[in-house]
Amino acid sequence: MNPLLQPYETAPFSQIKNEHFLPAITKLIEETKAEIEAIVLNPEVPTFENTVEALEKTGEKLDRASSIFFNLNSAETNDEIQKLAQEISPMLTEFSNDMLLNEALFQRIKTVFTEKETLDLSEEQKMLLDKKYKAFSRNGANLSEEKKKELRIIDTKLSKLKLSFGENVLAETNKFELHLTDKKDLSGLPEGVIEAAAQTADEKGKKGWIFTLDHPSYVPFLTYSDNRELRKKMAIAFGAKGFNNDDLDNQENVLQIATLRHKRANLLGYKSHAHFVLEERMAETPEKVISFLNELLEKAKPAAKKEFDELTAFAKNLDGIDHLEKWDGAFYSEKLKQKRFSLDDEMLKPYFELKNVIQGVFTVSQKLFGLQFEEIESIDKYHPDVKTYEVKNEAGDLMAIFYADFHPRGGKRNGAWMTSYKPQQIKDGKNSRPHISIVCNFTKPVLSIPTSPNINSVAGPTASKPSLLTFNEVTTLFHEFGHALHGMLANTQYPSLSGTSVYWDFVELPSQILENWCYEKETLELFAKHYQTGELIPMEYVDKIKESATFHEGMATLRQLSFGLLDMAWHGQDPSGILDVKSFEVAAFHNTQLYPDVMVNCMSTSFSHIFQGGYSAGYYSYKWAEVLDADAFAYFQQEGIFNKAVADKFKNFVLSQGGTQEPMQLYKKFRGQEPDPEALLKRAGLLES
Ligand SMILES: [Zn+2]
Repeated sequence: MNPLLQPYETAPFSQIKNEHFLPAITKLIEETKAEIEAIVLNPEVPTFENTVEALEKTGEKLDRASSIFFNLNSAETNDEIQKLAQEISPMLTEFSNDMLLNEALFQRIKTVFTEKETLDLSEEQKMLLDKKYKAFSRNGANLSEEKKKELRIIDTKLSKLKLSFGENVLAETNKFELHLTDKKDLSGLPEGVIEAAAQTADEKGKKGWIFTLDHPSYVPFLTYSDNRELRKKMAIAFGAKGFNNDDLDNQENVLQIATLRHKRANLLGYKSHAHFVLEERMAETPEKVISFLNELLEKAKPAAKKEFDELTAFAKNLDGIDHLEKWDGAFYSEKLKQKRFSLDDEMLKPYFELKNVIQGVFTVSQKLFGLQFEEIESIDKYHPDVKTYEVKNEAGDLMAIFYADFHPRGGKRNGAWMTSYKPQQIKDGKNSRPHISIVCNFTKPVLSIPTSPNINSVAGPTASKPSLLTFNEVTTLFHEFGHALHGMLANTQYPSLSGTSVYWDFVELPSQILENWCYEKETLELFAKHYQTGELIPMEYVDKIKESATFHEGMATLRQLSFGLLDMAWHGQDPSGILDVKSFEVAAFHNTQLYPDVMVNCMSTSFSHIFQGGYSAGYYSYKWAEVLDADAFAYFQQEGIFNKAVADKFKNFVLSQGGTQEPMQLYKKFRGQEPDPEALLKRAGLLES
């Protein structure tokens, strides 16, 4: 019996074996095809109900099975799953293209679409109709048979290339290790980082300490290691992912992806991939995006340069460094920050035990939106580390199932993300609640006693620590949780308009706005307590967190803008003239780089956001959403950060609405005005310089 073909409520992880995926997905594709065929063969004239709504209802089981498969491929993968993905992914692309190029189906939708204004449709139904029609027209429904074929070939190729890009990045990350056996080489590193490295070495059956390119190992190493040569070694390995001229090299993948995306856009009548993408965004056109980025660049650059000069002088003064390199940035920045604020990650970490931070984010969502979280151990999970919760509202109604997967593993890709296993929708008159998940790569608790010689005699044989988060990890958790709230509070009729199914440049508003609460005294008082003494975080630390939040904000802004501009460079023009990935990238970075270029490194070859994930021609949306979130949070600050009336408006007009209306409309209903970039510039401290 194949568990993916039986009815289930929460995903039946414990029963699923790798060999279930392919037959289940194959069968469910067939079933969905039959459901679609029934719509096409319906002898009645096309109506909204018998065509658009009916189509929305197809493929429910297929969507669930494939979401389980692809979520596992990101969070708990192995060679076998990766191999299956190479087979399943093109199958699904082919199926979806077949459907979107189904002439008879399109004609029925077109009929309803042309009658749109005469039909008595709700706002949400109109959005659904637009969305379905555009899905077809933007996928070539109006093309000739020959061109349709061409499109399908491109899509299949693209889906394989993107997978291979991601696999190369993961393999490069797992391949590298910095194995140290001399205590001297650990100089500067915090005790917790050393313990974790000893544990990693132990797990690999080696003596000493192993540092990896996983963020919880890599980032502290670059921030704290006194050894400049080792920092350089780590940084170069990190920056060379997919750029080593071997079988894991991504240069050809990058070029092919950009070329095929451009061809595809041209085929559909758009000037570039970015023109195609931005048609369905709040920002609307590449011209608008580029001028948005350049305007911010103009404001941020003087501040960034000033910060960089200051940092250069500081490093020169401290260590006689003449030329600041990329592997010096985090290190001296941290030192300068310590000097200026006498506040470092290691001082703050004891106040941010993961367990307490989770409780904190739960309390915040309870105060704002009335949500209650209860850990339910019996919910089936894909790994013992995963935590599972039931989420209820004030009235005690089930709002969502929530999965949280916090720590790095070999089969998990880098970063942090939110995803779902089941969408919210109104089904047969009942509100069917979503299953939401967040996946992170936070510092692991140190569980066992390191067998390697310990450099610090203070850490005796009982040394062990729970997971203590850096402040950056705290804001990351709030960020992903903001996405999760968007999913959990969804309250729409149709699943494809539910939760985070909104325009890409609107999707980061709920996540980014939630980060703001981490900087507020009122919030930190709720959960930032010392993991050993229970003492509340000292208020002077809180003041300093706030003050230091904009430390080096100019440089950070420049960096984000550089990624946004690189993305637009790859996707806003004809890439056929690009012969060399590296030199193209250097040119695109020309106006945004402070550090000398590292010849053997390349950003594009591991830029998973735009070459593997869905952020192509969309990286700008982080900054775009910052403008939104700064402006929205200014409203909370004005009325009180836990003000129920403002929180209700945010829930009712933003979080619960998904993509049922244009984002600008929703935003104005919440805020009473359009977003003002002034709030961001003020918050970032970029206004006066
Ligand atoms: Zn996000």
